[in-house]
Amino acid sequence: MFSITADRLFEDLEALARFGASEGGGITRRAYAPAYQDASRWLCDRMDAAGLKARVDAVGNVIGRLGPDDGPAVLSGSHIDTVPNGGRYDGAYGVLAALECARTLKEQGAALDHALEVVAFVDEEGAYLNLLGSRAMTGALRADELSRARSEDGVTLLEAMRAAGLDPPRAPEAGRPPADFHCYVELHIEQGPVLERASVPIGIVEGIVGILEVDYTFRGEAGHAGTTPMDLRHDALRSAADFITRTYVKLPPRLDASARVTFGSLTVEPNASNVIPEEVRLRQELRDLSPERLNALFEESREIAAAVAREQTVHLSVSKASFDAPARMSERVAGRIEEACDRLGLTSRRMSSGAGHDAQVLAGVCDTGMIFVPSHKGQSHRADEWTDPKDLERGANLLLHALTALAD
Ligand SMILES: [Zn+2]
Repeated sequence: MFSITADRLFEDLEALARFGASEGGGITRRAYAPAYQDASRWLCDRMDAAGLKARVDAVGNVIGRLGPDDGPAVLSGSHIDTVPNGGRYDGAYGVLAALECARTLKEQGAALDHALEVVAFVDEEGAYLNLLGSRAMTGALRADELSRARSEDGVTLLEAMRAAGLDPPRAPEAGRPPADFHCYVELHIEQGPVLERASVPIGIVEGIVGILEVDYTFRGEAGHAGTTPMDLRHDALRSAADFITRTYVKLPPRLDASARVTFGSLTVEPNASNVIPEEVRLRQELRDLSPERLNALFEESREIAAAVAREQTVHLSVSKASFDAPARMSERVAGRIEEACDRLGLTSRRMSSGAGHDAQVLAGVCDTGMIFVPSHKGQSHRADEWTDPKDLERGANLLLHALTALAD
């Protein structure tokens, strides 16, 4: 069995990191921006040089194909866009490791039953639309989403696409039939601390958590902060604070390893230091691999909030704001990855992904798997994001073995 050439992968990572690099060491490569377009052209050139057939589809996904022109392909890749002032491995590693795998297979003249496609999905980070590229390719993107999307600074997606030389009305042409996809494997840095803490070099992802956002509104009574006695108050912020504290005390001991509860947003009315808060709106974010457990967490939180509202005689309203379903990875693909770990003598552990990835979209159309490598201190989406080169090499070799097994 072959191995990847690590130095070549590191050189590619180095080269790609120059597009959108800032003086402080961070990278800003937002989808369709000039730095992104330059990186995208560079990637096409690297694919061509590796003997792949490279193309850019109608929404800007970069695709390099090795092997038969027709028929279902084994896809592997990730994204080359970044968050503002992001790091050099999030996304880029998965794309360039897949390219290195394809290059190795091409050099070795490996004969595979299925074609291998290396893909860089556009706008995974959602400068305009979260997971835009993978959703467009799998036919999960609606035309009205495309025409409504705009960046935080007000540029419409349609303008951005045109500036990047794309023709928005042709965007549906990026969609491909399910028969094009044999399976998808995404290699990614963990972006969390679990693998490093456990000294395990490989994570095999079982699923990507679903996200349920719930709005709670506590409505009490405004009043003078000096003249209203403490025992006669209906203070909405006090109720909200009690709700948050009780939830954090009660829920975590019962949480599954993949579950997360976060209160990250809160508005207070009238928000003045000398007025008893009349109304507080807060948003709770729940994450879990299982839709049933998500719902159980929601029900339990709602009961806690209702108890607080009863005790303190404030009004409570609760509404679900949004729900992204969890995505299960394929057991067949996970099994192949595990077998490849055994062959390479790598220890691994099953885990869930708390962050979103293109793999969750691909999981809707084909067998999908994900491999994680450790992130130093769990740091990601920041300039000093770092993974040990040894771990980068291990992950890429594992990907090579897994892809070969899946393409045969
Ligand atoms: Zn990513």
